Amino acid sequence: MAYWNKEIECMPPERIKELQLDMLQKLIANLYEKNQFYRNKMVQKGVKPEDIKTLEDITKLPFMYKQDLRDNYPTKMFTVPLNDVVRFHVSSGTTGKPTLVGYTRNDLDYWSEALARSLTSCGVTDEDVMQVSYGYGLFTGGLGAHYGAEKVGATVLPTGTGNTERQIELMQDLGVTAIACTPSYLIHMIDVAREKGVDIRKDTKLKRAFLGAEPWTEGMRKHIEDATGIKAYDIYGMSEMAGPMYTECEERNGIHIPWDIMYVEVIDPETEQPVPAGQKGELVVTMLRKEAFPLVRYRVKDITNVILEPCKCGRTSVRIARITGRTDDMLIIRGINVFPSQVEHTLLQIPEVSASYMIIVDRINSLDVMTLQVELKPEAFSDKVEEMTAVKKRVEYEMKKYLNIAVKVELKEPGSLPRFEGKSKRVIDRRTYE
Ligand code: ADP
Ligand code: ZN
Repeated sequence: MAYWNKEIECMPPERIKELQLDMLQKLIANLYEKNQFYRNKMVQKGVKPEDIKTLEDITKLPFMYKQDLRDNYPTKMFTVPLNDVVRFHVSSGTTGKPTLVGYTRNDLDYWSEALARSLTSCGVTDEDVMQVSYGYGLFTGGLGAHYGAEKVGATVLPTGTGNTERQIELMQDLGVTAIACTPSYLIHMIDVAREKGVDIRKDTKLKRAFLGAEPWTEGMRKHIEDATGIKAYDIYGMSEMAGPMYTECEERNGIHIPWDIMYVEVIDPETEQPVPAGQKGELVVTMLRKEAFPLVRYRVKDITNVILEPCKCGRTSVRIARITGRTDDMLIIRGINVFPSQVEHTLLQIPEVSASYMIIVDRINSLDVMTLQVELKPEAFSDKVEEMTAVKKRVEYEMKKYLNIAVKVELKEPGSLPRFEGKSKRVIDRRTYE
């Protein structure tokens, strides 16, 4: 078993708690003393740094929200002078106005350190050639994965997104063994490769994919692995944390969260109280050592649960379960909660259709109507009307069974729905509420 930083990664849990408490106390004392934003928030909540006597006392501290970042745009929340900031990134703004984040030299080092631990835990070494097909630029994915892989000593191929045919050629020519990209882009690549007559399993050396930046399911993992023979790992992060940085290990039973970098809580979004390990809720994070742009009890909005059971890999940090969606990507259709990940999960059980889909929600005569456009697999595509009607009925039946609402299904020709190189956008909500 290879570790990047064994002492830290395998530290006994009791010792972790002591060190985390120490880091938390120092962080809070420093922010209270030096930063207006944090001080005001704590004064409003009536809490002082000396009230943090145990790790559990973290719940006394106020929450931070994305709105705080927007209100303090661009740099009012930075806690170091701008000449110590060596990089900006801007989040993709999936849920509204983009937010700006900044990094000191140390922040960048820790981001790469987190990735180096993660990649090593999945077997990446200096012998690997890693293709980074996340967007480079304002988005954190490209540069994040890039420096993480370089730190491990892998040879990085910085393709970024787009020009998929060329990407496949380079993958073959340069013996790429690992790739980092969104799951939707990998699916697209697999399709393009197939059209070019390239079989990823036989015609490339690809062994591992690090897929993230958007939710994906176990069904999608199986689909990708069956189609390519590679191993697909979940990679998680968000701009406010630094970027993509945490992954599963070879055991693939939850995402390891380095205890010296991020402290995690999971709460019930309504009561705002912590939920027990194993129970789903909203992720809340505190970055224990960020300098330019710290976060304390930040409401991430992603839905997950904490896993406390020790991992077979020997790492002692807590893990979080695969993110099943964001509290704000949940659609409420006729009063029923629907997550796009549930739709994906259901589609992957039906052999005739692919996992390329689009959800369209309308409000017709004051009723919500959900239309699901889904592509047929090439081998299932037929011009026999009865056959197509049977498939459509099957999809409608499975959706009704799983989601508990009636869904109008439209079957589409293979390859006809939009493809995504970065984060996918699979929901069009056209409802207006006058
Ligand atoms: P934005 O919030 O503007 O999309 P980011 O690019 O920082 O900006 O995206 C971070 C978000 O992407 C996360 O909060 C999460 O919702 C989603 N995400 C990232 N990685 C994963 C993953 N592996 N599984 C599910 N969702 C993910
Ligand atoms: Zn593990």
